[in-house]
Amino acid sequence: MRKQIAAANWKMNLNFQQADKLINEIMGADIKIKENQLTIFAVPYPYLSMSKGVVGDVQNYKVAAQNCYQKISGAYTGEVSVEMLHSMGIYYCIIGHSERREYFNESNATLAEKINLCLANEITPIFCCGEPLSVREAGKQDEYVGVQLKESLFHLSAEQIKNIIVAYEPIWAIGTGKTATTEQAQEMHQYLRSVLAVQYGNDIANEISILYGGSVKAGNAKEIFSCPDVDGGLVGGASLVAHDFIEIIKALK
Ligand code: PEP
Repeated sequence: MRKQIAAANWKMNLNFQQADKLINEIMGADIKIKENQLTIFAVPYPYLSMSKGVVGDVQNYKVAAQNCYQKISGAYTGEVSVEMLHSMGIYYCIIGHSERREYFNESNATLAEKINLCLANEITPIFCCGEPLSVREAGKQDEYVGVQLKESLFHLSAEQIKNIIVAYEPIWAIGTGKTATTEQAQEMHQYLRSVLAVQYGNDIANEISILYGGSVKAGNAKEIFSCPDVDGGLVGGASLVAHDFIEIIKALK
């Protein structure tokens, strides 16, 4: 049975004290997380250690990095390698967030390199895909997102692809307050699963968690997560407010 996941993406927000308070509040809340559910905190690099300390060994709660570099090691000032993450006990990493693609020119090919390094270091990539508004308006979203998957993931073996979490995040819905309708989300998630099924077979496609991202809030999470092919969410803004993110975790199937 595939995992239902609430993944917080804090982005470049919160100072250390605020981050410490937020994660302690969430971890201290009375949430009865089920066996098939997972909560992931994708925090800024300087907060990985603190977050890991707070989360500890609590079942089904994990800490993730928001990015990693596409080289093993070397003279890349300011970058962070997957080996560094692994050596700190970090086993999840967001790859290819639309903000990385847009502001740091990360291409599908670069993301494929990052994916390979993550998998080689036992780190589960949370691979983001999603179309800009102009593509959606032209009705070309399936084609666009299909290419993102093909160019960054489809070189992987069937064994490897099982260790990927996919996050569909329509760019026009990120941080805009504009959420995709449940129909739009289900339609795209079903399409993504069908593309994965063509490449890897139904059994594997049915095991891959596909998260929705784009203005998920406490008030709309349950409805979005109720779609059969939506396996939880990647949450930006609402993950910065303890009460809201707690409600989002509770909304998981
Ligand atoms: C995100 O950044 O991954 C995201 C979905 O942001 P928001 O929830 O704020 O739209």
